[in-house]
Amino acid sequence: MSEYMIYNLVPTFSEAPVSLDLFLKEASQVIDALKSSKADKKYIVYPKQHKEMTQYLQQAGENEDIVYLPVETGGAFVFGNKTAVVRVIQGEKPLPTGVDHGLPVFSAEEFAAADTKTVVIGGNAKKKGTFTFAKTTTPRAILEQCSSVKEWKGMYFGYPMGRMVGAGQLDEELELTTDYIHIFDETDCVLDQLFKIANRYSKESCGRCVYGFEGVTQINMILSDLVQKKGKTEDIELLLDLCIVMETQALCDIGASAARTVLTALQNFREEIEEHVAKKNCRAAVCARYVTYHILADLCTGCTDCVDACEDDAILGKKKFVHVIDQDECVQCGACMEACEEGAIVKAGAVKPKTPKKPVPCG
Ligand code: SF4
Ligand code: SF4
Repeated sequence: MSEYMIYNLVPTFSEAPVSLDLFLKEASQVIDALKSSKADKKYIVYPKQHKEMTQYLQQAGENEDIVYLPVETGGAFVFGNKTAVVRVIQGEKPLPTGVDHGLPVFSAEEFAAADTKTVVIGGNAKKKGTFTFAKTTTPRAILEQCSSVKEWKGMYFGYPMGRMVGAGQLDEELELTTDYIHIFDETDCVLDQLFKIANRYSKESCGRCVYGFEGVTQINMILSDLVQKKGKTEDIELLLDLCIVMETQALCDIGASAARTVLTALQNFREEIEEHVAKKNCRAAVCARYVTYHILADLCTGCTDCVDACEDDAILGKKKFVHVIDQDECVQCGACMEACEEGAIVKAGAVKPKTPKKPVPCG
C-alpha cells in the first residue's frame, strides 16, 4: 500500500489545462475512485487561480478523505516533474530533485490508464483547440485533424517530449506525452520559433543544476545571436555539442527536453537555420534583422505618412513622389509599413521587389 497518492491537475502549459478539463468533466467519478484507492493519504494539487476549479470546490465542499492543495501558478513545466509535485505535499516549493516516473503522482489520463491522449493544438493550425488522439500516433494523423493555415512546415511537441518534427518524420510513430502541440507553416521561421521556445524554457528552469540552467541560458544566447544576425557558422556546432551533453546530464527532464527540442530542430531544419548565417537570409521573412523593407512604385501615392513614421530618416521622397527606402539607414523596425494605408510597403527575404533607386513622380 502506498503512503500517499497525488492527483496532479496543474498544467505544464497554461494554455493547455488538459488534466483540469478532464477532471471537471467527471469529477464525481474521479473522487469516488480516489476515495477507494488504498493509499493512506490522497491529494489533489490544482492551480489556485483556476475559476472553474474554485467553483467546483465551493459546490462540492470539504472532503475529509482528500486533501486539496492549491498552488500559486496557472501552469509551469515543473509540475510535469513528479519529484517536484511531491515536494508540494511536503509544504515545500515545487523544485525537481531528479526524474522519477515511478512516484504515485498521476495526471488525469495516467490515473484513468487511458490509451488516448488529449492535447491542445495551437500555432498556425487551421483548426485549433482540444483534440484527442491514440496515445501512440503519427504526426500525419495529427495533421490530418488540424491541418495548417498555409503550407505545413513542421510541428513542435511541447514539454516533456521536446520535439521539432518536419516532413521527414510525418509517418514516424511517437508516444504522445505532451499536453501542447504547436503547428508551424511556411509563414513561420524555424529559428524564430526555436528562439521563442528556448525563451520559455529559460523562464521555467529552476536554476538548481548547471546543465539545466546554464545550458538553457547558453542556448538562449546562441539563438539570440543567430536571430540578431550576429551568429557565426561555428555556433551551430556549438549548439549541437552543448545539447548532446545537456540531454543526458541535466538533473531533471526540463533541461533534457529543452536540449532535445534544439537537437531535433537542427536535425530536421538545419538548412533553414544555417541559411541565416551562411546567406544572411530568413526564408520566411520573419526574423526582423534579416528582412528588408521596400516601397512598391505602383501603390505609393506620395502621401509622406511613412516619412513621418520613420524615426531613422531612412525614407526619401516628397508629396506626390514615389518614396524610396535607403537600405543603409533602415533599421528594419517596420513602423513605415504600419503607417502606410495604401499597402505600398512590403518586407522581403531573399527575393527583393524591383523599386526605383530614387524618388520619381507618382503615376
Ligand atoms: S509608401 Fe505609403 S505612406 Fe509612404 S508615401 Fe507611399 S503611400 Fe504614403
Ligand atoms: S523599417 Fe523603420 S527604419 Fe526602415 S524605413 Fe521603415 S520606419 Fe524607417
